[in-house]
Amino acid sequence: MTAAKSAAFVAVGSELVRTDRLDTNSLLTARLLGRCGFALVEKRCVEDDVGTIAAAVSELLARTELVVVSGGLGPTADDVTREAVSRALGLALVRRSDLEEELAARYRGRGRPVPPIAFRMAEVLEGAEVLRNPLGTAPGQLLQVKGRTLVLLPGVPLELEQILTSHLLPRWVAVGGVVTRTLRLAGVYESQVEQRVSPLYERFGRERVTILAARGQVSLVLTAAGPRAPEDLATMEKAFSAAAGSDLFGRDEDTLPGAVLELLGRRGWRLATAESCTGGLVGFQLTAVSGASNQYVGGVVAYSNRLKERMLGVPAEVLAAHGAVSGDAAEAMAQGACALGAECGLAVTGIAGPTGGSTEKPVGTVHIAVSTPHGGRHSQHHFSGNREMVREFSANFALDLLRRALLEDG
Ligand code: AMP
Ligand code: MG
Repeated sequence: MTAAKSAAFVAVGSELVRTDRLDTNSLLTARLLGRCGFALVEKRCVEDDVGTIAAAVSELLARTELVVVSGGLGPTADDVTREAVSRALGLALVRRSDLEEELAARYRGRGRPVPPIAFRMAEVLEGAEVLRNPLGTAPGQLLQVKGRTLVLLPGVPLELEQILTSHLLPRWVAVGGVVTRTLRLAGVYESQVEQRVSPLYERFGRERVTILAARGQVSLVLTAAGPRAPEDLATMEKAFSAAAGSDLFGRDEDTLPGAVLELLGRRGWRLATAESCTGGLVGFQLTAVSGASNQYVGGVVAYSNRLKERMLGVPAEVLAAHGAVSGDAAEAMAQGACALGAECGLAVTGIAGPTGGSTEKPVGTVHIAVSTPHGGRHSQHHFSGNREMVREFSANFALDLLRRALLEDG
């Protein structure tokens, strides 16, 4: 296993040092670099000043293998990253005629004359590789400096992401980078997953697996390095997927609501939700997926007993006999959701706390029910944590109960 290579990030922009804008490029960059074996060990925000930027670049290049600088590559007078690096490394800035042509063509395409200041963006540091920027005017630049790498990228987040993902990540992964695969599980707790996959540690190495838990969802991040990295990763993925079994709902960028909607789509079924303690969190998660309207018709946040009766048809006797937080109430709510005009209903009712608990039904007691054309299912939980955690656990376990019903029934 190769240790992560160190990287540093410099966000250039006076607006980022003041209170006007937040530097988000460092988060994006750290995430993307992580995929190819670099770990961000330091980041800085600096103002648009040649001396400050130059000092940051020199200092960070002296102690990390890769320095990524974002921003300050535009045409205006405050864009001074090029000059700063030129000063820091003692490299000349050369104006490239091919880049001047490209800039002129780009402005012509928009029916505008090229403002003379725009040609500053055609200035390239001596020896640098130009990184084309299809989404903007200022190209990025890459320099090798005494075995270290310096990358200058535009500050506009979309442009930075595009250049990183299309030009840089593929080549860094190819040269001994680390490849990763994330397996996504739901409806389980971290300790259960750990128990199930731990026999595999001996075979693949404990340090190649990270378990991340997030309130009803667990991610297994698998890594492989070296010349056979893709094959090794595929072998690992197979073994860990088998251990995860039906808890596995997807990988990498897959989401739990996305997996549920896909299963609904395969069956041609629609879904309606009935939420009490989650107050719409399930609907929120589902509607975060583009195209959700093909399967998700909507839902009701029925918080009071009155609304549970009126909008979902939960019988008053059920509420009187078992209470609103009960399996019977959840089942009636799920059926009531179906009656809104969907083949499937999903219902959540529980005590999120910190008040409202009793000995019989302590805080964290949650009932979830699913109704599909093939029948119903119910689950009862005792989640721990504060109000926010209980609600998030509930939403994730609810989506997961539906996922399992769609997978297994019929
Ligand atoms: P620049 O490349 O410095 O001209 O920046 C162009 C735009 O991208 C400006 O609107 C900045 O506020 C934005 N931007 C620059 N750096 C960052 C950053 N580190 N995080 C988020 N946005 C940024
Ligand atoms: Mg700027």
